[in-house]
Amino acid sequence: IKKIGVLTSGGDSPGMNAAIRAVVRACAYYNVECVGIYRGYQGMIEGDFKEMGPRDVKNIINKGGTILKSARSADFRTAEGRKKAYDNLVAAGIDSFVVIGGDGSFTGAEIFNEEYGFPVIGIPGTIDNDIYGTSHTLGYDTALNTVIDAIDKIRDTANSHNRLFFVEVMGRDAGHIALNAGIGAGAEEILIPEEDFGLDRLVESLKRSKGSGKTSSIVVVSEGDKIGKNVFELKDYIEENMPEYDVRVSVLGHMQRGGSPSCFDRVLASRLGVKAVETLLDGKSNYMVGLNQDKITLTPLEQAIKGQSEIDMELVKVSDIVSS
Ligand code: ATP
Repeated sequence: IKKIGVLTSGGDSPGMNAAIRAVVRACAYYNVECVGIYRGYQGMIEGDFKEMGPRDVKNIINKGGTILKSARSADFRTAEGRKKAYDNLVAAGIDSFVVIGGDGSFTGAEIFNEEYGFPVIGIPGTIDNDIYGTSHTLGYDTALNTVIDAIDKIRDTANSHNRLFFVEVMGRDAGHIALNAGIGAGAEEILIPEEDFGLDRLVESLKRSKGSGKTSSIVVVSEGDKIGKNVFELKDYIEENMPEYDVRVSVLGHMQRGGSPSCFDRVLASRLGVKAVETLLDGKSNYMVGLNQDKITLTPLEQAIKGQSEIDMELVKVSDIVSS
């Protein structure tokens, strides 16, 4: 291994820059060259490369987004697209790459490795925390902090007006963000895709809350929740069944993907970036670097792609107890 490429692919997440920095500086430390690949796999196909040294990644550890830009590339899903990418990498002398992204990006890396025997390592970068083989994905902790900050503010207005707020948070088909931020922000109810709560139980629970003296309520709803068709229909249903409540909806949206990474995400990014380079230099390929019980571990990419990240059901119980 003499020249390692690094790219960010799929949705961006806070901490990607800190991971790029770690990869670039680990390469310098171990005396191998490093090349930044812009715009994910699309930049690989178009040969959008830049040699990177330690000074090229100064002042980015604290920045959200990704200096390398990210993209979704339809061309990389085709054999012709991947052939172009391979030819460009070879022409530039790049002999391996580290891809920071989600399971789609890992699938692309796996297929590319199968076709060309090209060494690849994945770093899990997504706020959703929905990747098997790591307790935390890059950006997840920052997103949680962003969400609780927003809900704290919403609570101020909910309290002042005796309102019920439905706050929709991201997470795709996983309820990690909703469950953890919901507990952290003191939500009365948390609706996640992994648990079918049922509308009747929701109404019953909200009536109980009101009966116990609560004058306002926050319900955190994961975007993938299946209880109502969407959060606005949920609002309509509650208004019909609980006319005493003034119901509002807040969809937090893309603000959750941005912002300066938390200290946790910066440290995690640094550890994952270093380990990714070390793994390639050890002659290994097709692994995802991840965090498990505070140790950096390797999970075969195939398992990371196919495995299901699971919700800690203990947390559901904790949420029920502390919101009573
Ligand atoms: P996010 O969690 O934000 O969705 P992701 O990495 O899962 O991140 P995707 O859009 O699914 O995001 O994948 C990123 C890119 O990986 C795609 O645009 C495509 O270029 C490549 N990719 C995904 N699946 C495949 C595949 N089956 N074959 C080849 N390339 C793929």
